Amino acid sequence: METITINGLSTRASRIALGTWALGGWMWGGSDDNAAIRTIHAALDNGINLIDTAPVYGFGKSEELVGRALADGRRQHALIATKVGLDWRDGKPFRDSSPARLRRELEASLRRLGTDVIDLYQVHWPDESTPIEETAAVLEEFRREGKIRAIGVSNYGPAQMDLFRSVAPIASVQPPYNLFERESERDVLPYAAQNNLAVLAYGSLCRGLLTGKITAATRFEGDDLRKSDPKFRQPRLTQYLSAVAALDRLARERYGKDVLALAVRWLLDRGNIVALWGARRPEQLAPVNAALGWSLDERTMRDIDRILDETIDDPVGPQFMAPPTRERISPEAVQS
Ligand code: NAP
Repeated sequence: METITINGLSTRASRIALGTWALGGWMWGGSDDNAAIRTIHAALDNGINLIDTAPVYGFGKSEELVGRALADGRRQHALIATKVGLDWRDGKPFRDSSPARLRRELEASLRRLGTDVIDLYQVHWPDESTPIEETAAVLEEFRREGKIRAIGVSNYGPAQMDLFRSVAPIASVQPPYNLFERESERDVLPYAAQNNLAVLAYGSLCRGLLTGKITAATRFEGDDLRKSDPKFRQPRLTQYLSAVAALDRLARERYGKDVLALAVRWLLDRGNIVALWGARRPEQLAPVNAALGWSLDERTMRDIDRILDETIDDPVGPQFMAPPTRERISPEAVQS
């Protein structure tokens, strides 16, 4: 496993981390608890020690599963990254990073995770209704109290990170980042490089698109978010699938690898980056090793950009996933 230093953590983190959103089932068409636990164990067996979760993933379920999977002594071999700052009512999330909410969330997460300290505590989304400095001050208190080891932010821009860092140190930032979603290259990645922040890239596999297994005939079940993901809808889907096919050919011809290994390797070669790999069955982690121990040359990096330019006429980002602010949901719902 390749590893990285995250400021504040004494153990180096694996550069591939397990993403556990799908384990909670919500927005992924359900999940299977037994397979979820085995997936977490498979991650650790594959050399992955960083596990990313959040209270909102399955409304507590993902954190509980992480806690259960680590309860048999494995906790000491894992780094837990969870999040704070999203509340929910009736299955609908919204942003809330107010100090009172943060305290309640911390205690609930510690309980679900079955631990007395969270390694990396990340603000999930900026909350425009709470001054960022207030959120930062509370997280810094948690750090001083020894309840969290390091602070991260997610979906923050540079100006928001500047405000936060005027009060508390940030060790990491978690933006969406993969071969098809590169908006963070404009500002977040340069900011992270300048300020020595680790980048935890989410959606590394573009929700499965970059694994090569999605076809025009693939159907999703229940509340699976890919039903409304604009990349998985025509006419864009055909463009993205052409890109996947061309990238797969390139990976095979040049490196004897497939598009999944290429997509993860590409991320790891872009900077001080950890690739968050979402999985819900152990066998989905079997290809982890194929992404490690090699790197892409400059010519391939250029050829990848050319393929993307030639195949995707109408690119679209991951904005469809952004949760509403407190103002945009009904006041009654927030007060209840
Ligand atoms: P992802 O990693 O891009 O894709 C995950 C999906 O890819 C899996 O659920 C699985 O889908 C498929 N997959 C994984 N391995 C595979 C394999 N070997 N072969 C075929 N298919 C495979 O998406 P993500 O889970 O959204 O992102 C990763 C993590 O980032 C999340 O779990 C979460 O921890 C984090 N995240 C954070 C934010 C944020 O706002 N901070 C937002 C999104 C995600 P199926 O099981 O359906 O086949």
